[in-house]
Amino acid sequence: MNASIIDAHAHCGIQGRFPPQSFEDYHAHAGGSGIDGVVMFSPVMEIYDRYDPNFKDNDEWRQRRKKSNEYLLEIGHQELIVIPYFFIWNDFAVDQLTSRHKGIKWHRHPDEPVYHYDDPRCLAAIEEIRRRNMPVVLEEEFENTIRFINEIAVGVKVIIPHLGLLNGGYDTISKNGIWERPNVYTDTALASQYEITDYINKYGCERMLFGSDFPFGDPKIELSKIQNLRIPEEKKEMILSLNLKRLLAGSNR
Ligand SMILES: [Zn+2]
Repeated sequence: MNASIIDAHAHCGIQGRFPPQSFEDYHAHAGGSGIDGVVMFSPVMEIYDRYDPNFKDNDEWRQRRKKSNEYLLEIGHQELIVIPYFFIWNDFAVDQLTSRHKGIKWHRHPDEPVYHYDDPRCLAAIEEIRRRNMPVVLEEEFENTIRFINEIAVGVKVIIPHLGLLNGGYDTISKNGIWERPNVYTDTALASQYEITDYINKYGCERMLFGSDFPFGDPKIELSKIQNLRIPEEKKEMILSLNLKRLLAGSNR
């Protein structure tokens, strides 16, 4: 992986076009920024119906999901390398993982349909993720975040996005001692400058990854938050790409 600035959090798909979030859309937004690598996962609306808490899975959605995850394997070029993560849902379709997938996206907000943590297929999927040593971008409500880290997927590398913004908040994660865990990483997408600085002061920058949350965040604006930090250049390089390269070096080999 030769990229020097890697965005560790972007949504990308062509089935949901609101907002526009194809590879070409990302490329247009990030052009000229120096970003030359990007972790991409599917838009939520290509995975499940987030507006229906009683949503029941069906074949149509399974197909939509499969197509969405597969799209990410077809995109990217030399100027902008794409690192696909597999967005997993309640069919726990780890049989669809390929050697190109470098991570897992696990996503749910309160009021959205729940992950079936008690399904034996869930535990089997976690075992497969563990065997492949893949990191999991875990966006879940606070109780499930704790349960995932402490009980369900002990030791699995977890990236809590947005410095915890949608996992109960930065402070709640802090108070529960989660940022200290050696297997817990974070990304800076949509986080405040204050929280980014506070995190670095308390926990160092070895497990912090630059992310944009495109199309909800603007890659250039999110990048400038890191570039404007008052920290040595080598620490910026860690956040902008080296930490992610190190994290993914052992993933799914
Ligand atoms: Zn996101």
